[in-house]
Amino acid sequence: MPYRAWFQCIAGCDEKYKLNEIIYHCKKCGNLLEVVHDLDQLRKHDAKYWKDLLDARYLRTKWPYGSSVWGKKEFVCPQVKNENVVSLYEGGSNLFWAERLGKELGIENIWIKQCGNSHTGSFKDLGMTVLVSMVKQMISEGKKIPAVACASTGDTSAALAAYCAAAGIPSIVFLPKDKVSLAQLIQPIANGALTLSIDTDFDGCMKLVREVCLKNNIYLANSMNSLRIEGQKTISVEIVQQFDWEVPDVIVVPGGNLGNTSAIGKGFLIMEAMGITNKRPRIVCAQAAKANPLYLSYLTGFKEFKPIKAQKTLASAIQIGDPVSYQKAINILKKFDGIVEQATEDELANAAAQADKTGLFSCPHTGVALAVLKKLLEKKKIKAHEKVVVISTAHGLKFTEFKINYHENKLKEVTPRFANLPVSVPPSYEAVKTAILEKFEGFSL
Ligand SMILES: *Cc1c(COP(=O)(O)O)cnc(C)c1O
Ligand SMILES: [Zn+2]
Repeated sequence: MPYRAWFQCIAGCDEKYKLNEIIYHCKKCGNLLEVVHDLDQLRKHDAKYWKDLLDARYLRTKWPYGSSVWGKKEFVCPQVKNENVVSLYEGGSNLFWAERLGKELGIENIWIKQCGNSHTGSFKDLGMTVLVSMVKQMISEGKKIPAVACASTGDTSAALAAYCAAAGIPSIVFLPKDKVSLAQLIQPIANGALTLSIDTDFDGCMKLVREVCLKNNIYLANSMNSLRIEGQKTISVEIVQQFDWEVPDVIVVPGGNLGNTSAIGKGFLIMEAMGITNKRPRIVCAQAAKANPLYLSYLTGFKEFKPIKAQKTLASAIQIGDPVSYQKAINILKKFDGIVEQATEDELANAAAQADKTGLFSCPHTGVALAVLKKLLEKKKIKAHEKVVVISTAHGLKFTEFKINYHENKLKEVTPRFANLPVSVPPSYEAVKTAILEKFEGFSL
């Protein structure tokens, strides 16, 4: 069956563009594009057909459908030929019940979706597999694309470099100097990307990469490229699939450039259109107080949106003042009874550490989401009986400096309430025994 999708303007201009066209904005009005699917074709099968098909493919090895992104290929990017798919088996990340953390926060049904348990350690893999596959397809059709480039707060560049390396396509990453973690910096270096360290912030890198791509026919991999959103929307489909096709009540996701907030909504909308689901969760976008333009807009009822100058935050991947996808995110939040809330440095760092003490290993952005969940529970905007999924966006091991500095009380504006310092002892039985007795109350040796 010929499943079809195309680019269309988010402002409603009726022109359509092919997915293998090098285009990021509407030619009429300059707005962002989104991928639109031929729903009539998809609806020729009923919900049971789709659920059975997706379940049969999930985490198996039949190329490329074992990837949880490509297992949903018909409504992600049907036009990519299987031989052009560049996949590192993305998705299928664990979704687990955080029982002890829930007890501490006063909510029973809290689940963590570990999108950071992925090839390059963040959810960015989900979108990048789609984008790089389309680039491979365009190159195979004879289009001249010398390289793919992106500006990044660290994780997009890691994903771009890895997928391009897997496909043998040159990549260029624009990173704000000293604003990404060491682990994030080494990833594109290791994967052979041209890694540019630039003395500016993310928004400055973004401006520059746009100019370089435009003038040199280099393909732009930032999330104004809506192919990535199609891959990321499988997060919602996968969550519902993991819950045996039940929709949770609330999804909390940290937001920076705001592509992922819109992607998560888009995943629910397509499931609804295909008859797979019949309810919507509330979507909560969690921002760092130091980079909170969407939160400020939310306070005006989304009547206004003003870019800001983002300030330095521990949640470095969301240190963005001029988010590309703000309009898409606002459209989604309006449809999903959405909430935007913010978290301070102290709140995000302590929320991450508190969660770690119950067995998680949270990145600072997941800390923002957890801190916001905590606040909304206190404000009773999320109810204790509701089923909540927190999107953990990156692996904590990418942010070890953040964690060490937390435990050593070296973070600005943070009072660590869950610090756990290593204890240095001489190699003697007595010293070890003393250390044990000091750590654990009521212990006798
Ligand atoms: C990219 C990223 C985000 C923010 O996602 P947006 O789509 O830019 O809102 C959050 N957390 C991590 C770890 C990221 O890499
Ligand atoms: Zn338009």
